[in-house]
Amino acid sequence: MFDVDSIRRDFPILQRRVHGKPLVWLDSAATAQKPRAVIDRVSRFYEHENSNIHRGTHTLAEEACDAYEGARAKVATFMGAASPEIVFVRGTTEGINLLASILSESLLKPGDEILLTQAEHHANIVPWQFAARKTSAVIRVAPVDDNGEIILEEYGRLLGPRTKVVSFTHISNVLGTVNPVREMSAMARREGAIVVIDGAQGIPHRQVDVKAIGCDFYVFSGHKLFAPGGIGAVYGRKEMWERLPPWQGGGNMVQHVTFERSTFAPPPKRFEAGTPAVAAAAGLGTAIDYLNGIGLAAIEQYETALLEYALEGIRSIPGVRLVGAPRERGGVISFVMDRIPDPVVAEKLDAEGIALRAGTHCALPVLTRFGLDSSVRPSFAFYNTRAEADALTGALHRISRGR
Ligand code: PMP
Repeated sequence: MFDVDSIRRDFPILQRRVHGKPLVWLDSAATAQKPRAVIDRVSRFYEHENSNIHRGTHTLAEEACDAYEGARAKVATFMGAASPEIVFVRGTTEGINLLASILSESLLKPGDEILLTQAEHHANIVPWQFAARKTSAVIRVAPVDDNGEIILEEYGRLLGPRTKVVSFTHISNVLGTVNPVREMSAMARREGAIVVIDGAQGIPHRQVDVKAIGCDFYVFSGHKLFAPGGIGAVYGRKEMWERLPPWQGGGNMVQHVTFERSTFAPPPKRFEAGTPAVAAAAGLGTAIDYLNGIGLAAIEQYETALLEYALEGIRSIPGVRLVGAPRERGGVISFVMDRIPDPVVAEKLDAEGIALRAGTHCALPVLTRFGLDSSVRPSFAFYNTRAEADALTGALHRISRGR
């Protein structure tokens, strides 16, 4: 049984008040709140285990190393991967920059094509622009339709022998569209392209099995998965990592160093130069334990019904225009209100304790596609309730009536 009241008690911040009103956190797509277990895990690390990770030198180093590598194993199992296929990074942005950088060094040549979609976050656009500029590769963009769905025929038409990399989001952070990631991966792989998936909004809302999806890389941020900030991961197929050159240089990623040349550690270490965010990684492991305790299938089912309920409420408000109408939606809803600027809507909601995001959501091209340069975006997680959706709808009705 999915017991949202009991789940809410696990999240201390959800008990606080803002402007005298109970906090209604509808900004989980920006960052998710943390359960007590995760907060306690980070404290326990600093109170008992804090050390750098250099196994074999002393007890605390062993323990810190176990915490870090244990978290890697949990991430791997959670995604259907093997431990060495998981590279820890700071988050999605760093993960995509890592891939764009090493693929531009090892793979991309002038005239090669990088295929993106119109609904990408800036983190899945700008790093590829850097890669294209460095290598004289070309960026192509697959369009979305008026519902905010990828147009698969157009996507297929843009794939060809020149396509070397395809990178797309699992779930759009603006429209909520859940992309057909298996089909898109299979289509791209048939053309011999490397498939990168931006999973920042995907992994908090859907069971991810990277082998079933059939991608080469899948990137996500811990802080959107109920874990601390400063940690994220890149899954990569073993054969991919093995043939890719290192990214940043420094400690931990080398085997042997002289002033003439260095040799590098095997993956995943080769891609993890310097001291990592050990406590945050341990917290990510605990967040995954917590999610497994509830079950991703139960989370998806609960959230789908909640989103449908919230959508119904928002649709009932005069002067609201929804942005996109995807068949399958995860996490977010975007809308604009007639004659009321988005920041004003957000400000009025904040006064009622309701936190959501208004702005570009770092995904300007997709808003431009819909003739907008910003939207209001409530985003939901499994700790949100129908009462909170009602609070949002009620407040929006008052705003719409000018009260
Ligand atoms: N991609 C998508 C789809 C996102 O929603 C976000 C975060 N808003 C990012 C990438 C970037 O994630 P981060 O800021 O955690 O690196």
